[in-house]
Amino acid sequence: MSRPTTATIHTDALRHNLGQVRARAPGSRVMAVVKADGYGHGLERVARALGGADAFGVAALSDAERLRAAGISQPILLLSGFNEASDIPRLRKLHVDSVVHHPSQLQMLEQAGAGEPLRCWLKVDTGMHRLGFAPEAVRDAHARLTAMPGVVGEVRLLNHFASSDEFLGSAGDGRQTREQIRIFNEVTAGLPCERSLANSAAILGWPDAHADWVRAGGALYGMSVVEGKTGADFGLRPAMTFATRLLAVNHIRKGERIGYGATWETPDDMPVGVAAIGYGDGYPRAAPAGTPILVNGQRTQVIGRVSMDLMTIDLRNIAGARVGDPVLLWGPELPVEVIASAAGTIGYELTCSITRRVRFVER
Ligand SMILES: *Cc1c(COP(=O)(O)O)cnc(C)c1O
Repeated sequence: MSRPTTATIHTDALRHNLGQVRARAPGSRVMAVVKADGYGHGLERVARALGGADAFGVAALSDAERLRAAGISQPILLLSGFNEASDIPRLRKLHVDSVVHHPSQLQMLEQAGAGEPLRCWLKVDTGMHRLGFAPEAVRDAHARLTAMPGVVGEVRLLNHFASSDEFLGSAGDGRQTREQIRIFNEVTAGLPCERSLANSAAILGWPDAHADWVRAGGALYGMSVVEGKTGADFGLRPAMTFATRLLAVNHIRKGERIGYGATWETPDDMPVGVAAIGYGDGYPRAAPAGTPILVNGQRTQVIGRVSMDLMTIDLRNIAGARVGDPVLLWGPELPVEVIASAAGTIGYELTCSITRRVRFVER
C-alpha cells in the first residue's frame, strides 16, 4: 500500500471564500494572492478554481510563468518586483505587471528602455519598513516611472500593512493601521491612479482601506490571521483537509514512555495509535503533546514527539480504533489555526509546509 497521507483541496471552498471577499469589499476588484504555490494548495489548481478573480499575485517570476503556461489569462502582479535587468524582458513577454519598490529598479527600467510596455505598481512604505519607497521619495519615483516610455499607462500605487489583524474585537488598538492609511492617503493625494492597500485582515477589518483593489491571500484559503479566531468566524471555509490513516494500534502498559526522547509517559494501560504522518510530510514537529487531532472524526490528542514519518496518538477515548482508520490533522472539522497556535505559528506556515511526498487530491 502506498503512503495514505493526503491533502485534499476543496475548490468549492476556494470559490466560496472568493465570494465572501467580494461581499466584504463590494467596490473593489480582487487580486487573488497565490504565492508560495497557492499557500501550499497548488498554484495551477488554485488559479483554475479562482478563475473569477480579477488578477493574481505571485512572489516569483517562475510562478507567473507557470500560470501563463497553464493558460491563465488574467493580469498577474509580481508582488516583490523584478530584481535583475534580465527579468524585465521576461515580464514583458508574459504580460506580467511588476511592483517597483526600490531606486535600483527605477535605474534598471530606465536602462532597459522601450519595449513592450510594462505595467508598474509603485510601493509606498507607510510604516512596515520592509519594501517600498519612503513617503518623501514617492512623488519623484512616481514621476520618473510615469515618464518612462517602457511603462504602460498609469502607475498604480500600493501599500502593505504590518498589523491589520488588529481591529475591533481582536487584540491591539489598530493604531499602526490607522497611521499607515493616513500616510498612504497623504502621500498619494491627487495622483490620478488606482490604489491597493488591503490584505486579508484589512479586507475583514478595515473597510476604509479597500480602495480599488484588495489583495486576498489567507482569506481565500479559509484562514484567519486574527489571534484566537478561525476562518469560520468570518464566514470562510477551509480549503484544505490534511489527513492520513492509522498504521498501528498498540497496547502499552502504564508507566512506559513513548517515542523519541521518551517525553510522554503512559498514565494508564492504554491503546496508542501510530499514524503515517510526520514533519517529513509537513506536520509541525513543534506541535506538543496535547495538540488536538481527530481519529474516526473524534477528537483526541497527539502524544510524544512528532517524528519524521510517524506520530503517536492517544486512543483512550476512541472506542474500537483499528489499523486503517482515518486520522485528520486539519480541515473543516479541525481548523489549521488551532494546530498552528499549538505549534507556535500561523496557519499559513503550516499549509505552505506540506511536502512533495504528500498526495494532493481535488474535491
Ligand atoms: C502575501 C501578500 C498579500 C496577501 O496577504 P494575506 O494576509 O494572505 O491576505 C497581499 N499583499 C502582498 C504584498 C503580499 O505579499
